[in-house]
Amino acid sequence: MNLYKGCSHGCIYCDSRSNCYHIDNFDKVRGKENALAILEHELARKKSGIIGIGAMSDTYNPFEIKYEQTRGALKLISKYNYGISIDTKSDLILRDLDLLKEINSKNNVIIKFTITTPNDALSKVIEPNVCPSSKRLKAIKELSANGIFTGIMLNPVLPFITDKEEDIKLLVRLVYESGAKFIHTYLGMTLRENQRDYYYEKLDKYFPNLKEKYLKYYGERYNLLTPNSQKLYRIFTEECQKYGILYKMSDIIKAYKKEIKTNEQISLF
Ligand code: SF4
Repeated sequence: MNLYKGCSHGCIYCDSRSNCYHIDNFDKVRGKENALAILEHELARKKSGIIGIGAMSDTYNPFEIKYEQTRGALKLISKYNYGISIDTKSDLILRDLDLLKEINSKNNVIIKFTITTPNDALSKVIEPNVCPSSKRLKAIKELSANGIFTGIMLNPVLPFITDKEEDIKLLVRLVYESGAKFIHTYLGMTLRENQRDYYYEKLDKYFPNLKEKYLKYYGERYNLLTPNSQKLYRIFTEECQKYGILYKMSDIIKAYKKEIKTNEQISLF
């Protein structure tokens, strides 16, 4: 579910600005009219489940402070006893801790923070309009301390920029210290029409000569695994195992789902 169209966080690698999604002026955030009325109509008709928010835009954009569209949706999700899965990069999510705890007492909750680098200065370059990595780690700490199942998506990993062994090791340690339960990564990025142009424009601005390196190494490929992905994955999994952090998606899904008790009576006939 996307309560907003477009996203103003300005991540240089954002896939959602690709042509295939047909979103004009991607950086301009637009609220969806009647979203909460439509949501309530749907929730009342459907069987309970887990609702995912944040696949195409960050629902905790600056307009959420005033319009509270996400907060309104969480109230409805709690009212109808659904679970919630949120992808975000913003510590604004802490404003809704009360509702997340309420939902968590009745159903499943999983919060996935995207963190791509432990380096705040670098995160300000590649994700300029959202809080830096250290603030996201603080938010994870608070959510985790309140019993909310939280972890990080270490995606994308930008070749020749965020694929340093020492950064991956440091990030796993910081994530462990924050109380997060998991890290998931595929150690690469994807690039396609429009998104590629935007990314290369930013590389030219902030990382001179790197575009040429990308073109030489990857050509027009869609899937760009980091050149050292195999070695990096071995290091990543060893570090996760050392700290007891989950990293396989199947294990993460198994760990966050709890048994849900319903009031439904099973009929004999
Ligand atoms: S937060 Fe997500 S949707 Fe928003 S610009 Fe960054 S990558 Fe794109």
